[in-house]
Amino acid sequence: MPELFIGGAWIAASEGGTREIRCPADGSLVATVDEAGPKDAAAAIAAAREAFDHGPWPRTPAAERGALLLRTADLLERDQEDFARAESLDTGKRIVESRYDMADIANCFRYFGNLVAAGGGDRVVDTGDPGVDSRVVHEPVGVCALITPWNYPLLQTAWKVAPALGAGNTFVLKPSELTPHTAIMLMRLLTEAGLPPGAANLVLGAGATAGAPLTEDPRVDLVSFTGGLVTGRRIMAAAAPTVKKVALELGGKNPNIVFSDADFEAAVDHALMAVFLHSGQVCSAGARLLVQDDLHDAFVDAIVEQARRIPLGGPFDDDARTGPLISAAHRDKIEAYVAAGVAEGAVVRCGGGRPEQPELQQGFYYLPTVLDDCNAGMSVIRDESFGPVLTVERFHDEDEAVALANSTVYGLAGAVWTGDTDRGHRVASRVRAGTMWINDFHPYVPQAEWGGMKQSGFGRELGPAGLAEYQEAKHVWRRLSPVPQRWFA
Ligand code: NAD
Repeated sequence: MPELFIGGAWIAASEGGTREIRCPADGSLVATVDEAGPKDAAAAIAAAREAFDHGPWPRTPAAERGALLLRTADLLERDQEDFARAESLDTGKRIVESRYDMADIANCFRYFGNLVAAGGGDRVVDTGDPGVDSRVVHEPVGVCALITPWNYPLLQTAWKVAPALGAGNTFVLKPSELTPHTAIMLMRLLTEAGLPPGAANLVLGAGATAGAPLTEDPRVDLVSFTGGLVTGRRIMAAAAPTVKKVALELGGKNPNIVFSDADFEAAVDHALMAVFLHSGQVCSAGARLLVQDDLHDAFVDAIVEQARRIPLGGPFDDDARTGPLISAAHRDKIEAYVAAGVAEGAVVRCGGGRPEQPELQQGFYYLPTVLDDCNAGMSVIRDESFGPVLTVERFHDEDEAVALANSTVYGLAGAVWTGDTDRGHRVASRVRAGTMWINDFHPYVPQAEWGGMKQSGFGRELGPAGLAEYQEAKHVWRRLSPVPQRWFA
């Protein structure tokens, strides 16, 4: 069956393009899928435009739109094991992690379903004039281009699709060319849930050929993008001539700040999880450890000791605790990143290469790596690795910790570990990042906004602001009994 979904029909790529999807854990062929080109992207935009301008979805009452999202959440739960397996085969991530993701995805649809059904932010305005009925209502923005990465393929997609549909928009989704399967499956579920044809459209393919046309076409009103900083800059520029609304969720270089009065065992445990979860391929990964001078030696020794023992393996290996990188090209990038750090003076405390086990040789594995003695002048501190590499810097006091944490172009997330609650809140407020954890790392909930400051992007996903991204607020003012104003009389 063809895999592009345009105007409610499954169709093959118009120019016959295909792409092999291979599991990063062992290089095995998962499937061959259609590869869209600019013509397919244009057809998908036309279908979404037609559905927005003349179709029923934007005119469907909010309560019904919310109900469709809730039905989709139920269907996702029904099929969660199939989804989790597909996600693990595409990404190489452990099946237990994919199962967590699927539960979060259903929750995301449920959260936005309830938010939309509750009115989506419409309100009556008190103007102080009893002769006026003034309201702010929320309308959809129009045709949305939703462009997503490979690390959390369906989760990042859900954060966009649920609020976009909830607000009454139509969309064209372009998932990462490396991980298309759960996006295909989601289109089937939206149809089963009752979404009318043309409201949801899917193109698969490379960024330059299937993605870029979505960011340039005048028929598209909004681009929501999650991915790398360099691509984000391109997308912002491509969207400028037609003044599209743009939301960018980009990378991070997230500080994990540990003071010497922190709970030692919990801080070590979370520092490992912060950076080595999903082999560091997490936008909010705590890849930059800032540790107070007098704690440094004991803390780094404990991390290194545990990092050496993290078992690597494929998605269905019960003993594995983390998996492969997404591709050979990505592993090459991380090898070059570590080599640059070493050349600049960083000390490899563990890892720094590929595992030796014969059973891992077909996959794109890289050992959990700790680079000590790093400083803010090094490329490994400036650049996101998006791999299992922890850099370690020392700080003396709170001011220095905050200054180091802020010495990056990124501002996505971070954490502070301390036994002093006031200090925890002080540091959390002084670090310029969209999410700060105090004595924790990584949790998020759909009720709370997610997004970046500085070059981690702009716009928010999740929370009420995550719905507002896809809405136009319109003020409607009604004079109850009009009378001449005689301004010019
Ligand atoms: P990427 O920028 O290479 O690609 C992301 C998506 O953009 C893919 O679908 C790709 O095909 C598409 N694309 C590429 N060039 C394009 C173009 N010119 N026009 C339109 N679309 C284009 O990123 P990636 O390697 O897939 O993902 C990793 C990056 O994503 C990391 O930097 C990570 O930090 C970031 N990320 C951020 C968040 C967040 O919430 N802030 C979440 C997950 C990932």
